[in-house]
Amino acid sequence: MGLVAVTGSASGIGAATRARLEDAGNTVIGIDLRDAEVIADLATPAGRATAIAAMLAACDGCLDGVVVCAGLGPHVDSFPTIVSVNYFGAQAVLAGLRGALEANDGGAAVAISSNSAVIPGMETPLVEVCLAGDEATARQLAATLDGQRVYAGSKLALARWVRRNAPSPDWIGAGIRLNAVAPGAVQTPLLQGGLNHPVFGPAIQNFPIPTGGFGDPDQIAAAVAFLLSDEAAFCCGSVLFVDGGTDAMLRPDVF
Ligand code: NAD
Repeated sequence: MGLVAVTGSASGIGAATRARLEDAGNTVIGIDLRDAEVIADLATPAGRATAIAAMLAACDGCLDGVVVCAGLGPHVDSFPTIVSVNYFGAQAVLAGLRGALEANDGGAAVAISSNSAVIPGMETPLVEVCLAGDEATARQLAATLDGQRVYAGSKLALARWVRRNAPSPDWIGAGIRLNAVAPGAVQTPLLQGGLNHPVFGPAIQNFPIPTGGFGDPDQIAAAVAFLLSDEAAFCCGSVLFVDGGTDAMLRPDVF
């Protein structure tokens, strides 16, 4: 049984991940804007520093797992905040807690990306600006784009960061497996916010989901728990699509 840090633990997929991990006997330390052990705003560098310092104090510098789940949907008013939370907040927590995994002789980290990251036409220069670590320019660019491209860009950058780092000396070289989950449409408050939006709502309702209907947060939590577990010992840099078949339907010949 282990000690796992989960961002976004107060709601949706993060809350389901927390519940599933706790049911299996793990201890979860949550980071969120509310209802968590560590209350912090991952949209700002100061909030991230607070979150990381408080987490390291709470876990005594030693963790078995890290899950970065906190995020905002494409429907929110501030597009710069989407990129600050979804990419820079997630990346900062992964990098800031990496040492606590290493101190524990390895462990595993999972980032929550999205299948929308690879929808054709969604890639913009925002992705490489994020990966270059330039938050100020990323925020400026985000203000010029639409919410869907900012959201998709933040999630594509996060998945690429995972794949660029997972095989490196700092991560698997230190015994730490780094992977991502790319969920499809999952019934959470974030998705409901999109469904309530006059433009995104009809588009989400028309999403092709071959299994039929939206996913349940616990179906994503199950994938996260698998990637954290020793059962996933050969998974390193994987991006696991858990989306009811949407990506396979939209991009059947990618492999
Ligand atoms: P949710 O809104 O239910 O939960 C998101 C959590 O993140 C909330 O508890 C919120 O307080 C927290 N959060 C938001 N901004 C924060 C900030 N600045 N600092 C700290 N915490 C903050 O959403 P969800 O659907 O469970 O989403 C979880 C993750 O899954 C997100 O990264 C989202 O992009 C991703 N995702 C969701 C779907 C979906 O359809 N629901 C699909 C693909 C990916």
